[in-house]
Amino acid sequence: MGSTFQNIYAEGYPDDDTRFMRENDLLDYETRLAHFCRYSDPRYYKGVEYADIVEALARRRCAELFAANGYGPDQIQVNVQALSGAPANNAVYHALVNPGDTVMGMNLLYGGHLTHGSPVNRSGKYYHIVPYTIDPVTQRIDMDQVESLAREHKPKLIIVGYSSYPWAADFKRFRQVADSVGAYLMADMAHVAGLIAAGVYPNPVGIAHVVTFTTHKTLNGPRGACILTTDPALARKIDRAVFPGEQGGPHVNIFAALAASFKLAATPDFKLLQAQTVRNAVRFAAQMQAHGFTIPFGGTESHLFNVDCKSVTGPDGTPLMGDLAARILDVAGIVTNRNTIPGDTSALNPSGLRLGTPWITQRGFKEPEVDRLAAVMAQVLRACQPFKYPGRKGDLFRARVDFDALNDARLQVRELALQAGIDYDPPQHGYPHFYYIDDPVPAAPFTRIQVEGERAAELLYWAATADVYALAPAAVQPARLYTPRGQVAGSLSRLGELPTQFSLTVPSAQAALVLTWLRDLSDGYVAFDSADPLRKLPGPVIIRQMGGAEALPDLSASQDDADQSAAGKPWFIGSSAWAVSGPPALPEFHWEPDPSAPLRRTALYDTHKALGGRMVPFAGWEMPVQYTGVLEEHLATRQAAGLFDVSHMGVWEFSGPTAAAFLDALVTNEVSALQPGESMYAQLLGVVAQVIDDCYVYCQEAYKYLFVVNASNDDKDWAWANAVLRGEVLVEIDRPWANAPGRGGLRLRDLRSPASGPDMRVDIALQGPKSRDILLALGADPDAARRIKALKRTQLCHA
Ligand code: PLP
Repeated sequence: MGSTFQNIYAEGYPDDDTRFMRENDLLDYETRLAHFCRYSDPRYYKGVEYADIVEALARRRCAELFAANGYGPDQIQVNVQALSGAPANNAVYHALVNPGDTVMGMNLLYGGHLTHGSPVNRSGKYYHIVPYTIDPVTQRIDMDQVESLAREHKPKLIIVGYSSYPWAADFKRFRQVADSVGAYLMADMAHVAGLIAAGVYPNPVGIAHVVTFTTHKTLNGPRGACILTTDPALARKIDRAVFPGEQGGPHVNIFAALAASFKLAATPDFKLLQAQTVRNAVRFAAQMQAHGFTIPFGGTESHLFNVDCKSVTGPDGTPLMGDLAARILDVAGIVTNRNTIPGDTSALNPSGLRLGTPWITQRGFKEPEVDRLAAVMAQVLRACQPFKYPGRKGDLFRARVDFDALNDARLQVRELALQAGIDYDPPQHGYPHFYYIDDPVPAAPFTRIQVEGERAAELLYWAATADVYALAPAAVQPARLYTPRGQVAGSLSRLGELPTQFSLTVPSAQAALVLTWLRDLSDGYVAFDSADPLRKLPGPVIIRQMGGAEALPDLSASQDDADQSAAGKPWFIGSSAWAVSGPPALPEFHWEPDPSAPLRRTALYDTHKALGGRMVPFAGWEMPVQYTGVLEEHLATRQAAGLFDVSHMGVWEFSGPTAAAFLDALVTNEVSALQPGESMYAQLLGVVAQVIDDCYVYCQEAYKYLFVVNASNDDKDWAWANAVLRGEVLVEIDRPWANAPGRGGLRLRDLRSPASGPDMRVDIALQGPKSRDILLALGADPDAARRIKALKRTQLCHA
């Protein structure tokens, strides 16, 4: 596959005669080259004499490998040009049916492939799809249902072959059904081609009209696909459907790799490998069942099986879902894929995992290793605590995993892999992020760990005792971490001008623990607060082991001072262990509106009056409700644009390196996730999470945020935000002396106040379908005009 064949263009096909030639004749280069020079070939390019040989060789070897059911290689016509499985299937559709024709395939949710008629795939859009499914009791394909659906809907094409259904299909019965309604039968053997080649799975060649398969799954070959048929008339249609119907130049380097793969697939070793692959899958499924997991479809007789993640539930019954299970297994070192299983209603939120045994079997895993791997997998999944919370489009399913179980699983997976001869580079050899809890540490008494990234300060603030936001560049603070394996006392220093790089120095004996702990916190799956699994730490960050240190850096403050700064934090991992006694509780925030305050007027008051605006009191202000007529003004806004005086709304500015940290504490949404030019809606919360107001936060540039609040609440909001900023009011009931983070490096200004000088700002709203045209017509310079035109929803720009 990595050969110079990669450079060759070879649109078209080799001579048809070569289909019927033996390998020895195809590889008789002298004869083939003499023939080529005299007669050329049907391709559109020259320079393809060797391309002809490898393509013909790949076709022939494929025909020999899959010959079955009374059909010899001379009767099997192979196309090896489809670039992958989906294009191969598309080409078959193109060859056999017309848009609008009825096609039957297995429902995607039950194990069919996208290309078998999923509504999001071309197949589901161009053809009338009638999906079939399984019998809920036997959990196998219901052939009577297939037959009655076929009789009712008279499909032109029926597809057999699956992506996650683990049982072999009854090809003969499928063919009978197809014949009874005059349909073509296509067998998509993408998954099981290797098993078929090895004779450990039924072979549909000659039974189905057309057989397709990918060559990169159990077949262990390059990424590619084959289309086989025993019907010469269909073969011609299929060749034309692939090229020029579906694609241009084929990938000649893939032909060479295919030819090599088919040769390997004919060896006794390959047969042993495939047989073991199936035994491993059967064993794996049985083991998972023994560990208490439901196995969808009831088992397997192929290389794959599924696991029902709902076998794990949280204390409130929330099930573990496939996506989180796969993500957590992945960080443990076990690669699986989330998959729908019977009972799921959407491919977007599947509750199953699909697992295959080809990789581990190629690594030499047999039953004993499979048993150990199944035990590790069960351990990780059982250590998950699922929970859910409401999202905009239904519940969001999440899970936390126990730190010890996860890191123990990592060690076991590494051991299994090492046994199988896979070499793991320790991290100091440039293999970032994948630390192990037993990684070797520097010989020096202390180890330096760098924590880097836009969220580094935030993560460290919540993960350690230090008041990270109070840390000046190059300054050092004592820092403790509460890990699931005990306390670590170290020191933290900020490395650069920007609060994005920190160095944490810890005792070397605990360095691997800290590396894995911080990395796991950054990944976001590990449980760190049993009282509140919904709590979430910011991330991700980069965690780097930077080598040894002879001593902790000079600490400008003593450990007592560190304890002092930790006490002032509203929360950090381990804070519950600290909160025994603190300074006196802060008072609750109280605010009373001034009933005698006069009505206020906006900067546009005189303009409203001059234009004949009808003024009414609103939220303490005198505001225009209409100029000429309500309906006319309403329609103008819907059809052209309306200009609204909203300059009574509060416009504030938060600036400074800790502005996002402070705002994150003040409002519901995640302000630190905002990039310059983006804005978000949020709610301003009080101490018991009661909504004080809703607001909009605009990130103007790094460390600078516009904050817009409702006119009627502006005074109250302002009083609250300033009281929190000055640290005068209660912000955390469990730690009533605590203050919000990031108060130090922050400036809060009221932009409507004349004190803001040239930065003084008010809000004006221009709204309606013509509003952008009007803005542009105001004479923005070309750069500003370009920015305005490029604005998407919730974005902002300067103009
Ligand atoms: N057919 C089946 C049954 C498959 O499972 C797959 C891949 O998962 C394909 C076709 C498509 O193959 P590719 O991903 O190479 O396009």
